[in-house]
Amino acid sequence: MRTLTILGATGTIGVNTLDVVARHRERFRVFALTANRDDARLAEQCLRHRPRFAVMADPDAAKRLSQRLKSAATGTEVLAGREGLETVAAHPEVDYVMAGIVGAAGLVPTLAAARAGKRVLLANKEALVMSGDLFMRAVRDHGAELLPIDSEHNAVFQCMPGGHGDGLDGAGVSRILLTGSGGPFRNTPLSALDAVTPQQACAHPNWVMGPKISVDSATMMNKGLEVIEACWLFSTSVDRVEVVVHPQSIVHSMVEYADGSVLAQLGNPDMRTPIAHALSWPERMQSGVERLDLTAIGRLDFERADFDRFPCLKLGYQTACAGGGASTVLNAANEVAVEAYLKERIRFTDIPRIIEHTLERLCYRAPTSLESVLALDAEARATAEARVSR
Ligand code: NDP
Repeated sequence: MRTLTILGATGTIGVNTLDVVARHRERFRVFALTANRDDARLAEQCLRHRPRFAVMADPDAAKRLSQRLKSAATGTEVLAGREGLETVAAHPEVDYVMAGIVGAAGLVPTLAAARAGKRVLLANKEALVMSGDLFMRAVRDHGAELLPIDSEHNAVFQCMPGGHGDGLDGAGVSRILLTGSGGPFRNTPLSALDAVTPQQACAHPNWVMGPKISVDSATMMNKGLEVIEACWLFSTSVDRVEVVVHPQSIVHSMVEYADGSVLAQLGNPDMRTPIAHALSWPERMQSGVERLDLTAIGRLDFERADFDRFPCLKLGYQTACAGGGASTVLNAANEVAVEAYLKERIRFTDIPRIIEHTLERLCYRAPTSLESVLALDAEARATAEARVSR
């Protein structure tokens, strides 16, 4: 029996994780569930899964959750804020932590889980992108296990012999090929991108996801973040990570070996596959995902990624090359720009402009501590926000 904390339980990743776990109650016990403000949904989840702790990042939402759970006698203790999140991520009774909070808000508890030597199931790519070396050192120094949930990195992990411990050369791997669908605007005329609405941007053709990652998929910043994530996870340089546009989202990524073999991992676009894989690794277990029917799909297409259409992907590559704190700045500026776009304060095509502006304004000293990562993140947010307001 493994005990599990789910950070971001009310989000898409959290809900999918609970779906998988509910199919294997003999193997997993839900220890803690967390959310930000959605106390109604977290209360429902507490009634169903009876965790020992529930944490709301927002203190007012924590009070509301306590009220909701009072009469239900779930035995769940409600905690609040950053401290509450860190407590349930690093608690000695916890074995596995699903890092499913969206954005930079996930860094502190995810890092706490790594420092406590947990199996960290990493969906929250932003945490790794913004803290890079600091995060990977915490994993190594504290004997944590890091398993990727992003379908692309989970696919690469599955295609590598013995996981990713030896780096590419040790595994005889020459390149990583990350696939990306190209999002909803893959074929939209470039001149029309100025006017696309957040609703259109969030209507991903293949995946059901939260609003932030949906916009990231539409700009392909998601793939830019994933290139950086791949460099850290698989200890490689950016020139060995290639992005291939694959509109059907059936091949989740590929690994090319020195002898010319290319191994791919295929499956329906359903996050329960990587979640079940990471929960049960090195074994396999049922996930509830429908079987892949290749004859019904009929064809698989692959295209080169177009930097003119997707300037955010180019910024992701440039940032990966720049190293240091550039990815902290990129991530923060992107979060500010995406939020402004979702609130209709800026246009879709302003997103890369704001990120580029922020990258140009700040110097990329490499942050060496959590405090310096958070300080650079705050500085980049202020710079990006000032540009949004202009
Ligand atoms: P959602 O927006 O659906 O869910 C986000 C979760 O994080 C919610 O539980 C939310 O709580 C919580 N949260 C938001 N802000 C804060 C905060 N400030 N403090 C604490 N908790 C917070 O996101 P997704 O599930 O789509 O994505 C989660 C992460 O997984 C992202 O990093 C994304 O890039 C990654 N990912 C997602 C995939 C997907 O298919 N969805 C695929 C691969 C990676 P509340 O509900 O109360 O707001």
